[in-house]
Amino acid sequence: MTFEELNIAEPISRAISEKGYTEPTPIQQQAIPVVNAGRDIFGIAQTGTGKTAAFAIPILQKLWEATRQPVASENSEEQSTSERPKRKDRRGRNHGKPEAKRAIKALILTPTRELAAQIDECFTDYGKYTGLRHTTVFGGVKQKPQTDKLRRGVDILIATPGRLLDLHGQGEVDLDEMIFFVLDEADRMLDMGFIGDIRRLVRLIPEKRQTLFFSATMPAPIVSLSRGILTDPVRIEVSPESSTVDTIDQTIFFVEKPEKKALLIKLLKENEDTSVLIFSRTKHGADNISKILTKAGIQSVAIHGDKSQGQRLKAMSDFKGGHAKVMVATDIAARGIDIRELGMVINFDLPDVVETYVHRIGRTGRAGRTGRAYTFASQDDHMIVKEIQSLVGRPIKMELF
Ligand code: AMP
Repeated sequence: MTFEELNIAEPISRAISEKGYTEPTPIQQQAIPVVNAGRDIFGIAQTGTGKTAAFAIPILQKLWEATRQPVASENSEEQSTSERPKRKDRRGRNHGKPEAKRAIKALILTPTRELAAQIDECFTDYGKYTGLRHTTVFGGVKQKPQTDKLRRGVDILIATPGRLLDLHGQGEVDLDEMIFFVLDEADRMLDMGFIGDIRRLVRLIPEKRQTLFFSATMPAPIVSLSRGILTDPVRIEVSPESSTVDTIDQTIFFVEKPEKKALLIKLLKENEDTSVLIFSRTKHGADNISKILTKAGIQSVAIHGDKSQGQRLKAMSDFKGGHAKVMVATDIAARGIDIRELGMVINFDLPDVVETYVHRIGRTGRAGRTGRAYTFASQDDHMIVKEIQSLVGRPIKMELF
C-alpha cells in the first residue's frame, strides 16, 4: 500500500515525503482509514511501529480539512458572497481580520515528557504545511512558557496527565471543544500510576469525541479502562513484540561483573561511528558508566530521573546531533527516545522484567533498519537468558568474554 492510496491531503503528504517515508507502516495502513471513517481505535502497538504518525497524520488531516470548511454559524443565512470564508495561504493561515483564539481540538495524553516532546516533534514535522498549532505541557519545568502558549491558542495539545490536570484546575486549559482524544502507551501509564489521573481527565472532556487508545500490552486493568472510554472501537494489532526484533542482530555476552567495563569499552572502540544506547539498571550506575567512559576517552551523555529537564533535553540534542555517540540511560528515562540512526543497544545490566529486553533492543532496528543488540549477563543469569530467548523466539548468539 502507498501513502497515495490513503488519500492523504497534499500539505501533509508533502511533509511526509520530505521526511523520506516512502510507504506507510502496517499500523499506519490500518489506523489511518479507521480514523478517517470517524471510528474509535483500540490499538495494540509498541513504539517503533510508526504508531505516532498513525494517529498524527489523520488527526492533522481532519483538523486541516475543518479549517477549510465554511463555518456554519447562526448567521450563516446572512453569509453573502462578500462574506465567504476568509482565504487561507498554503500554510492555512487566515488573511485579513485577526483570527479568533483557537480552541484545543485534539488532546494527546502520554506518560513521559520525553514521549510528549517526541510526539510534538512529529506534529511539527507532519503538520508544518497545515497552519495548525500545537504545544506540549508536562511537569518538571516552569509552567509560564506553557501557559503563554496555551493562552495564544493551540489546536493540538500533547500532555502528560499530572501537569494537564494542574493547568486545567487553574483554568488555563479549556477542553470543551476537543473532538480527538489519543491515549498513548496506556500500559506505561498504568505502570507509572496514572490511571486515576486518566479517569479524572476523562470526566473533564466532551463525551462526543473520537478516541484512539494505544498500548503495547493489554493487561486486565488496561482493557477495563479502555471499555470506559471507547465507543464501539475497531481493534488494530500490529506485530506482537517478539517479531519486531527480527531485524536486530542480537548477542549475549557471558561476562562477570569486574570485566563488564573492559568489554563495554572494547565494543565502543570497535564501533566508534555507531550511535549507541547503553542501559543501566540504576541512575547511579548510569552516572558511573558515563564516568568510566570519560576516563577511557569516550564521550557520552547520561539521562535518568535525577537529571533536570534542561539537562535531559541538552543530552538528547547532543546525542541526536551526533556530538556524543553514546548515551547511557535507565529504562524509564529511555522510554520514548527516538533516534532514527541508533545503530546499537547495549544492555550493561539485564532488565528486571524480561519483556523490557524487547522494549530496550527495540530502540535500534526501527522502521525496517537493521541494528545490533549486545547484552551482558553473568553465568548466574542463565535462567533469565533462557526466558529472553523464549520470548524472542529465535536463537540469540552467545559469547564468552
Ligand atoms: P513510532 O512508532 O511512532 O515511535 O515511530 C518509529 C520511527 O519510525 C520514527 O523514527 C518515525 O520517524 C519512523 N517512521 C514512522 N512512519 C514511517 C514510515 N512510514 N516510513 C519510515 N519511517 C517511519
